[in-house]
Amino acid sequence: MRYVSTRGAAAALGFEDVVLAGLARDGGLYVPESWPAIAPDELRRWESLSYADVAVEVMRPFVDGISEDDFAAIVHETYAVPGVFHQAAVTPLRQLDAGEWLLELFHGPTLAFKDVALQLLGRLFEHILKKRGERITVVGATSGDTGSAAIEACRDRENVTIFMLHPHGRVSEVQRRQMTSVPSANVYNIAVQGTFDDCQALVKAMFNDHAFRDRLNLAAVNSINWARVLAQVVYYFQASLALGGHDGRRIDFSVPTGNFGDVFAGYVASRMGAPVNKLIVATNVNDILSRALRSGDYSRGTVQPTISPSMDIQVSSNFERLLFDLYGGDGARIAALMDDFAATGRLAIGNGQVTDASRLFAATRIDEDETRATIAHVLRHNATLIDPHTAVGVAAGRKLRTGPEVPLVSLATAHPAKFPDAVQAASGIYPGLPPHLADLLTRPERYEILPNDLKSVQDHIGALTQ
Ligand SMILES: *Cc1c(COP(=O)(O)O)cnc(C)c1O
Repeated sequence: MRYVSTRGAAAALGFEDVVLAGLARDGGLYVPESWPAIAPDELRRWESLSYADVAVEVMRPFVDGISEDDFAAIVHETYAVPGVFHQAAVTPLRQLDAGEWLLELFHGPTLAFKDVALQLLGRLFEHILKKRGERITVVGATSGDTGSAAIEACRDRENVTIFMLHPHGRVSEVQRRQMTSVPSANVYNIAVQGTFDDCQALVKAMFNDHAFRDRLNLAAVNSINWARVLAQVVYYFQASLALGGHDGRRIDFSVPTGNFGDVFAGYVASRMGAPVNKLIVATNVNDILSRALRSGDYSRGTVQPTISPSMDIQVSSNFERLLFDLYGGDGARIAALMDDFAATGRLAIGNGQVTDASRLFAATRIDEDETRATIAHVLRHNATLIDPHTAVGVAAGRKLRTGPEVPLVSLATAHPAKFPDAVQAASGIYPGLPPHLADLLTRPERYEILPNDLKSVQDHIGALTQ
């Protein structure tokens, strides 16, 4: 399988190079040259397989450069039970009501769905780097949520060192401890005396310092990495198979959405032949995607902080991958549209493209009151405590689902204990941490407090990566 850039100008690459590259050199995102199709007979054979075996089958057509045996071993190490995921099904379905399910994606080490893909990505990095005799230094900034998933993905991986910057005193205690209590020698936390924006600016400046970047072989693990999208395709197949999905029985999925990575994985599953009926794109009040899919208006607003912070975004990077398909794979056209968007903050999607997208996608925004009301309602009527991100998905799914004859699966993207204050305010219940994190508040921590100053941060990182 070869991968091309959505902006048409960068060289086509194989799987391993795409995993290491992240963003393409022309500013685009890598997409596979074609979508492999899974025959209905093949799908039926997968019904009896474990999560890890389904994962190997789903991802295999996209992987080259890694032998089949090595790839299967990496996937099994990631998803084997007992292991990093605390459920035999890895992503179990929990029935909420008649014809309605939650797909629980939060049984990994940091209690959020990003673990499902990042745990695989960390192992892929290690495998590829060892083979090539290379090292990378992962540098990232976090406002609290993604930092721990990236650290758990990279910890103890050979040839990988990770530095995570967070704003000192501005992340919750649980979030900070999930990062700073990891004892691994290749993990470094830096608390910057500044804001999250300062942290992001420092990371950007380090990537723009080409001498520094090349000397340390800097790398990022952000959500545009193709391997992350690919790993998420698996659970759409897994859930459809568990619910008896086939050509005649299709399933609606509702997906709490920020960067469009998770729901784009649903699109890939659908293109490959998974029995997906509708993909419901659920946003909070930061609704650029809901506007884009309903009326073609993809325009940047200002970020409004919400109780579902992992979806507080103004620009949805992975949306470019869908645009590429909607515009018939015309990279030059996408490059022009994205240049325009960068300059004006607006992009008008054509009527034909909006109509095409509406055959599979439906979209809506859920405001803060509806999110809180959904948490309370699901607790009272379905005896289940859900987190605010999941609540956005459940609320949108209930509004836009096809009807009672079509099963509805809402993706549960975080454990309620990850956002305890918002959950308590909405439901009256303070969610406790699961057993594997029960002693989190007493584990020793390790982090360095540094001023908001590029030279201090670079000197610190440079000294530790000699
Ligand atoms: C990252 C995240 C999302 C949004 O996923 P995207 O792939 O960015 O659309 C939703 N919920 C939670 C809990 C997340 O951490």
